[in-house]
Amino acid sequence: MKELCFENCGFKVYDNSVNYYGASRVIMAKKDNEDYIIVIGESLGFEGEICALDGENAIIAKKTHNNAKLLRKLFPFTAPTRGLKKGVSIGTGDRLGLATDGHIAAVKKYPDVFPVFAQQSIRELNLTSRSYEDVLDATTFSVYKNGYKSGFGADGDHLKTVEEIQYALDCGFSLITLDLSEHIKSDISVGCADNLFKQYIDKEIPLAEGHSVYISEEDTVEASIIYGEALEYIEKIYNSFIIKNDVDFEISIDETATSTKPAHHYLIASYLVNNGIVFESLAPRFVGEFQKGIDYIGDIKEFEKQLITHQAIAKHFGYKLSVHSGSDKFSIFPIVAKHTDKKFHIKTAGTNWLEAVKLVAIKEPKFYRELHTFALSAFERARKYYVVTTNIDNIPVLDTLSDYELPKLFGNNDARQLLHITYGEILQAKDENGKHIYRDKFFDILKTHSATYAELLSAHIGKHLDMLLG
Ligand SMILES: [Zn+2]
Repeated sequence: MKELCFENCGFKVYDNSVNYYGASRVIMAKKDNEDYIIVIGESLGFEGEICALDGENAIIAKKTHNNAKLLRKLFPFTAPTRGLKKGVSIGTGDRLGLATDGHIAAVKKYPDVFPVFAQQSIRELNLTSRSYEDVLDATTFSVYKNGYKSGFGADGDHLKTVEEIQYALDCGFSLITLDLSEHIKSDISVGCADNLFKQYIDKEIPLAEGHSVYISEEDTVEASIIYGEALEYIEKIYNSFIIKNDVDFEISIDETATSTKPAHHYLIASYLVNNGIVFESLAPRFVGEFQKGIDYIGDIKEFEKQLITHQAIAKHFGYKLSVHSGSDKFSIFPIVAKHTDKKFHIKTAGTNWLEAVKLVAIKEPKFYRELHTFALSAFERARKYYVVTTNIDNIPVLDTLSDYELPKLFGNNDARQLLHITYGEILQAKDENGKHIYRDKFFDILKTHSATYAELLSAHIGKHLDMLLG
């Protein structure tokens, strides 16, 4: 057995990571840029290297999937739980598996906010070459390391198929966001369906606090055509998966070209509630544009007007609104804060990637220039997957900027979007030998400067929360 001691072998213990299970001490420590779990006393089943540490028996355990599973079992605060019923909840997501430290630092200041630290769509998994196991395990380790014991959620985001839902449930995710985009009809002129909503025709429906919504015959016909199949699909998913599992359920109808009419929203919700479907949140497609990485684009007055009605509908039926693509939408946050009684869910994903690239610009300007140049070359490919109005010509030419000026690019909306939407291209780029070109170095930089990265994220997410909580 090797004799080790914390100081001599270079382990730096995370102060908030010390817990006992029985007589065993379970801590996390960093060495050579990697985090380890160290179990002193009985091994408790952790897999790792057996040694003697400061004269006691110990296991030095790596951050493997089995060790994460065991951590979740022994210390339930590291496992995701339901929490969307809580007033304000925020999905931070962690695309890279290194952002949760910073997200924890941000939400610790807001004890009333329920965080969803793990949040990933299947597309994001594919673009980052990660699995739901990776996503959840990274969150578990970060939660343990930082001693965050207030509970967090894990969101299988924008799931479409039964296989995807089963996968997220098998991994222990606590929130299923059902994406209905493939069941929503966009062309109503070709549709024909039984009118599901005849009883609402030409009615002014009273909602909470003196609000109301008017339903015309046209609204009922349109809603039946556009959403009829989606409503059936929701019922099927609810009855085969959600009802049998202790998970939060979000209905996502936001991935459409046109905004959700309040009258349609009411009809959808009434159908679901009348059919006994329980859900915590619903994401309408709000009016205006919610492009990645930049502020809201659109008529703020109209957004406010529609939000008030959407909110009154949600309150009437007892769920909360969910705002997707919420990163950086600072101009609408005060409106959301004002009209939602501090009951809403917001998803801010992807922005942790932008903060990571900003960190690279600050710490490794030469490498940043490589990423930026590559992003420009990959932009046309990447933009196919997003609705963005990026104009490459508005981005300053890299050669005209000194290293010191590079971080300023993150104040330029076109540069932000360029770097935002090319994340998959950057992380997946391979040379002729099949080796990643940027990925490993990128992760190394994040690990080396993890404290600065956490500070950047904490400030960025903190700004969101400050404005959202009014
Ligand atoms: Zn969405």
